[in-house]
Amino acid sequence: FAWLERDDPEIAHVLLDELDRQRGGLQLIASENFTSPSVLAALGSTLNDKYAEGYPGRRYYGGCGQVDRAEELAVDRAMRLFGAEHANVQPHSGASANLAAFAALSEPGDTVLAMELPHGGHLTHGSRANFSGKWFHPIGYRVDPDTEEIDYDEVRDLALAHRPKVIICGATAYPRLIDFALFREIADEVDAYLMVDAAHFIGLVAGGAVPSPVPHADVVTCTTHKVLRGPRGGMILCREELAQRVDKAVFPFSQGGPMMHAIAAKAVALREASGSAFQGYARQVVRNARTLAAGLSDEGMRPVTGGTDTHLVVADLRDLQVTGVEAEARCDLARITLNKSAIPFDPQRPAVASGIRVGSPCVTTQGMREAEMRRVAELIGAAVRSDPDSAVGAGRLADVADEVLELVRRYPAYAQQEV
Ligand code: PLP
Repeated sequence: FAWLERDDPEIAHVLLDELDRQRGGLQLIASENFTSPSVLAALGSTLNDKYAEGYPGRRYYGGCGQVDRAEELAVDRAMRLFGAEHANVQPHSGASANLAAFAALSEPGDTVLAMELPHGGHLTHGSRANFSGKWFHPIGYRVDPDTEEIDYDEVRDLALAHRPKVIICGATAYPRLIDFALFREIADEVDAYLMVDAAHFIGLVAGGAVPSPVPHADVVTCTTHKVLRGPRGGMILCREELAQRVDKAVFPFSQGGPMMHAIAAKAVALREASGSAFQGYARQVVRNARTLAAGLSDEGMRPVTGGTDTHLVVADLRDLQVTGVEAEARCDLARITLNKSAIPFDPQRPAVASGIRVGSPCVTTQGMREAEMRRVAELIGAAVRSDPDSAVGAGRLADVADEVLELVRRYPAYAQQEV
């Protein structure tokens, strides 16, 4: 860091200011986490400088002996941790992993059945703004209006009516467990591939806190930087018979040289996630999210589906007559970082939204537990109810910000983590 400060003080200060921001507030974005110093060390390493197109033992460049070892370790650890027959650790991101999975399983123009974006799905599951909606023919399933959980009857009806090539489950803002066995059954009925996008919850699977999709899915895609607590990146797990298609769909079809520093960091994170401390972490993430859900409910913010089984809560703010975008801005003023979120059948535009999404991965990594979660829910409630345009509201937001600072100083981010 001393070199960076000397050679590029502007960027050095961005890094320092960001560390202050992360440490100086509550980080409640459900897709974020704090990585260990070992993961960061691998990321900031000389492996960044190595070109290694291809796969271990089959590279298009010389000098790949060391990076081959890193990739073999990452692949081996992923296969063992998740009981998968094959792993590809090269995708640069979750979106890249999904592009490769589409390429491995289907052709442009094919029909894919996936969860609609406003109901919790991801852009790469068929949004018109994304390759998945432009190059494929997406059919969207939704949640049941009463339970707000996936309407499996609708999934089956749509599958029978449209005969999709691929059925996708796994979401961005869905707080409940997904019935992978039932999705498998439906996929088999219509002879479709089952792709599970486990980006959000693969870390909970690693820690044994939720059931694994691996035994049910043809392909599992994921990110490595959410609950899993690794470097920003993607990964694909699949059955042996699809291994070649998946590997070719990543390289050379959709990517060039792999990011070997990130792959080494994925190996580190996968090793960390294999330990017993990570199992405790993953279970605490879920307990903390459940406590947050109950606390938000007490504050008048209704948890969608009534609660959570995972690391995130989607809360409906309509009873408080505050929109998602307003709540996000108010929380920001109170040193609480979270994001607005559409709720099922949301009457608001996505840019406004009626809800917020709150996640427990970061605060759990910091060591907070149920007692702190109850306080965090109260602080969110106080912030969301405070109108910054009134003197009283602005004063209350400043008070909440002080309390947040006092709380997070007791649990500093990036303190030596037990892994
Ligand atoms: N899939 C799901 C379900 C996600 O939630 C996300 C990101 O949040 C992605 C894919 C994309 O991951 P990335 O941002 O790494 O491209």
